[in-house]
Amino acid sequence: MKDLHSFAWYAARISPHLPKKVFKPVRARLWGGLAYLLLTVAGFVTIGAFNLNPLIYLAIAFVLGASFAAMGFLGHEILHGTVVRTAWLRDLLGAIAFWPLTTGPKLWRKWHNLTHHVHTQHEENDPDAWPTFEKLAKSKFLRWVYKLPHSFRALASFVSLSVQFTLHSSRMLHLYMKEFNPKKRPAVWLEAILPWASWIGLLFWFGPVKWFFAFLLPLLIANFIVMMYISTNHRLNPITEINDPLANSLTVTVPKWVDVLHFNFSYHTEHHLFPGMSSKYYPLVKEQIKRMWPERYHEMPLTQALKALWKTPRLYYNGEELVDPHKGNVFASLGHGLNPQDISLKRKEMLSLEKRKLFEEEKQKVKRENKEGV
Ligand SMILES: [Zn+2]
Ligand SMILES: [Zn+2]
Repeated sequence: MKDLHSFAWYAARISPHLPKKVFKPVRARLWGGLAYLLLTVAGFVTIGAFNLNPLIYLAIAFVLGASFAAMGFLGHEILHGTVVRTAWLRDLLGAIAFWPLTTGPKLWRKWHNLTHHVHTQHEENDPDAWPTFEKLAKSKFLRWVYKLPHSFRALASFVSLSVQFTLHSSRMLHLYMKEFNPKKRPAVWLEAILPWASWIGLLFWFGPVKWFFAFLLPLLIANFIVMMYISTNHRLNPITEINDPLANSLTVTVPKWVDVLHFNFSYHTEHHLFPGMSSKYYPLVKEQIKRMWPERYHEMPLTQALKALWKTPRLYYNGEELVDPHKGNVFASLGHGLNPQDISLKRKEMLSLEKRKLFEEEKQKVKRENKEGV
C-alpha cells in the first residue's frame, strides 16, 4: 500500500510553485453572488406578483434551484475565509449565501471546516463519511436498508439526493449543538431558525402553490445539484487513517461553463489541500498535483462518478473496499483497483465467521432491548 501523507505535507510541496496572489482573498467572487441574489429576487417577484402559466413557474423554479445551489457553493467558499477575512462580514455573507439551504454559518464552520476537513474519511470522526460494515451491526435501520435489492437502494439514494443536504444539515445541528459553548448556543439556534422562519413566512404570503414553485421545488433542485457533487467527493474513495486528500478525495470534471456557474466546486482534492485558497486558483493547484503525483490523483467526469456511485454499494469493508452485505458482493475503492470505466465485482465473500457472530450478537442485543423497552 502507498504511504499516506497529510494535506499539509502536499501543500508545503506545492506552495513554492504557486504565485503569491493565490493566497489572497478574492472579493470579486461576490459579484457572482450578487448576480444569483438578484436572479433569486427577480424570480420571487415574478412568481409573487403575476399569475402565470404553471410551466413558466416551473422554469423559474429551475432557475431559482440553480441559483440556490450556486449560492451554497459560494457560501462554502466565503465561510472558508477565501472571499473576505473580517470574521463578522464573512459570517454575514456566508449566512446570506446559505440562506436558501437553511444552514447557519457557525454550524457550517464547525461541521465542515473544523470537522470534515480535519478528519476527512476518518471512520469515526468525519460526520460526512459513510458507514463501515462493523457499524451495520449496530444500526437496525442500516440492516433493514441493506436487505433491499441493490438497484432499489441505488434508485432510492439518487432520489434522496434531493433532500440529503437539508436532512444532513439538521442532523448536524442536533449533533453539534451540545459541543458549542452554552453562551454561543442561542446564536447558533437563531442562525438555524431565522432562514426557516422567513421561508415559512413566505408560505403565508404566497400561498401553497406559489410557495411550492418559489421555495420548495427550488430547494429540492438545489439539494440535488449540490449533492451530485458532494456524493462524489469522497464516497468512491477509501476510509483513511491519515487524512491524505489524494487518497481520500476525488476531483470531478464538468464543462467549463458549469465550473464558472458553480465557482469551481468540482476541484475537491485541490480544495482539501488548500481550503483557505479561493477556488478561482484551483486549476493551478491541479497542474502541480498532476505534475508531481499523477499516479495518486483521482479525477473523472462527474457523470462517470455518478454512474460508479450507482453501481457500487455504500458500506466500507476493511477500509479499502465496498461491500453489499446482503449478497457479500465486494467492490474495490479508488486507488485500490476500482476502475470507473468498468465497474466489476472484485469477489463474493462469505462474510467471516467472526463478523457474522458480531452481527448476530448485535441483532440479539437490539431484540432484547426492544423487548425490554415495550
Ligand atoms: Zn470534502
Ligand atoms: Zn470545504
